[in-house]
Amino acid sequence: MTTHRATITNIQGYSIHDGPGIRTVVFIKGCPLRCLWCANPENLTASVQIGFIKNLCKTCGRCGKTCRYDAIIPGEGYRINKDKCVSCGDCVDACYYDALVRYGELKTAEETFLQVRKDKMFYDSSGGGVTVSSGEPLLNPDFVYELFSLCKNEAINTCIETCGYVPQKAFETVLPVTDYFLYDIKLIDPVLHKKYTGCDNELILENARYLVKSGADVLFRQPLIPGINDTDDNIQRTSEFMLSFGEGGNRLQLMPYHRAGTSKYNALNQPYLLEDIKPMSAEQIETVQNKYTEYGISCSISK
Ligand code: SF4
Ligand code: SF4
Repeated sequence: MTTHRATITNIQGYSIHDGPGIRTVVFIKGCPLRCLWCANPENLTASVQIGFIKNLCKTCGRCGKTCRYDAIIPGEGYRINKDKCVSCGDCVDACYYDALVRYGELKTAEETFLQVRKDKMFYDSSGGGVTVSSGEPLLNPDFVYELFSLCKNEAINTCIETCGYVPQKAFETVLPVTDYFLYDIKLIDPVLHKKYTGCDNELILENARYLVKSGADVLFRQPLIPGINDTDDNIQRTSEFMLSFGEGGNRLQLMPYHRAGTSKYNALNQPYLLEDIKPMSAEQIETVQNKYTEYGISCSISK
């Protein structure tokens, strides 16, 4: 019987960037890190949130009349009073113009499975499957275990995108039902890691060792942030760390910095702190790739 639930922001079909083949990606809310470059700010907290898209608002006032908690701010500025809002979503339903958006919906593992199973023919034809992402899906290891067990019953391939900052027990829970791990190593220096993500990386590196030793199929990934982790020092030390695993741990995929998430920071009325950073050119990205390759890392670039 299904017992586990998670707050899910999106179930996105037909992804080709989140593991092998064509995949359906389940985005689960909640993350222990606070990476400054995060492209999914709506997935950081575990609870449901309401966003406001100012340029869609017609100032019709329906949201204010609907809200029972006096949480709508009148006027033309940001509408949601976060101190009063209980994320009931009534205003989202009341808005005719899609200017209000609900981030997150509580779903059981079984409900989630029934939705992802609809894409099974794409998985079967492409060697794809289901990926859980966000955020950090392993903050909900029991939910992931249950969802993936249901997938395994129907021979659906399973993949986890993880930042690794969770107790080792979470990995132990999901290992028997997980085919593939996409594992972020954002920065190798613990002080810089803490500066840019809010947490040091000791637990992340320990879990990486544990996963590779356990024989799991792991592709390491690195969001490539200009001026932050594209330095020679980070490239060398990340390579040394990965090479210490032998063949099981020498695959790295670079994920070049982009600014696709900035509109969501506006919708949540949160500052985006990397305003001054510009995406890298193809040549700059290739230079980093070549440096990793020279160290003996099998390095690819995410599209
Ligand atoms: S209901 Fe929508 S369009 Fe109308 S004021 Fe509220 S946010 Fe703006
Ligand atoms: S989500 Fe509910 S409490 Fe929050 S502003 Fe909208 S109607 Fe009010």
